[in-house]
Amino acid sequence: MVLILYFHGLKMKGNIFDIKRFALHDGPGIRTTLFMTGCPLDCLWCHNPESRLKTGENSTKNRIVSSEYVIDELKKDLVFFEESGGGVTFSGGEPLAQPDFLKVIIRELKNNSIHTAIDTTGYADKSVINDIFPYTDLFLYDLKVMDPEKHKKFTGVDNKQILDNLKFIFNRNGIVRIRFPLIPGYNDDKENISEMISFLNNLTDHPQIDILPYHRLGISKYKKLKIDSSIEFLSPPSDDRIQEVREMLKTNGIEAGIGG
Ligand code: SF4
Repeated sequence: MVLILYFHGLKMKGNIFDIKRFALHDGPGIRTTLFMTGCPLDCLWCHNPESRLKTGENSTKNRIVSSEYVIDELKKDLVFFEESGGGVTFSGGEPLAQPDFLKVIIRELKNNSIHTAIDTTGYADKSVINDIFPYTDLFLYDLKVMDPEKHKKFTGVDNKQILDNLKFIFNRNGIVRIRFPLIPGYNDDKENISEMISFLNNLTDHPQIDILPYHRLGISKYKKLKIDSSIEFLSPPSDDRIQEVREMLKTNGIEAGIGG
């Protein structure tokens, strides 16, 4: 009996560091974003260092909670979701790094007709994607660096699984919005962007993409959390450079938003 309850999620526990209400950039409408702790990547430019701390480490917000607690918190905003066409976005960190916890919550939301989005690096076993696919209305999917060696050097992991999983989602007609974090000196070169364009154009007719220009807001988080940062020297891309990248995408048939 205990085992059954566990698998139905009634006893599921997971690690989160925030629940942000009234978010406007994490999918359609007014959204509540659940920030889940833990990320298998180690991006040199990480703007979310608090998502990668161990439970209780440095951050008082980082905590273990039950799925019932999270579901109750998320359902409190139902009226805003209904009025705005919004819903819940799972972010992090990497939500797919806690697959059982995620599945219990997202399945319950879908059972209540709440729109769901997962903001993901795509770095997970295909079985995990397969499992949550039926409950996911929108994938906000990061594409950072196309060259496998550079990807490994800049994020700590190979990108094969990420690209394979993206193909898998498109092949199943999943709805995807690509997020391209534009990091000067790391992935804003013509070669990387050209490779990304051909990859996306081979996958689908009209890829949806948002350029997310690097910003320095993460720096203060490193200071507050007393973690060494390797990105102090990084500057955001200029407006001109952002527009050049957008234009490059557009001339190759990809309309891109800025931010997201
Ligand atoms: S994927 Fe996101 S949270 Fe994870 S290390 Fe990279 S920037 Fe940080």
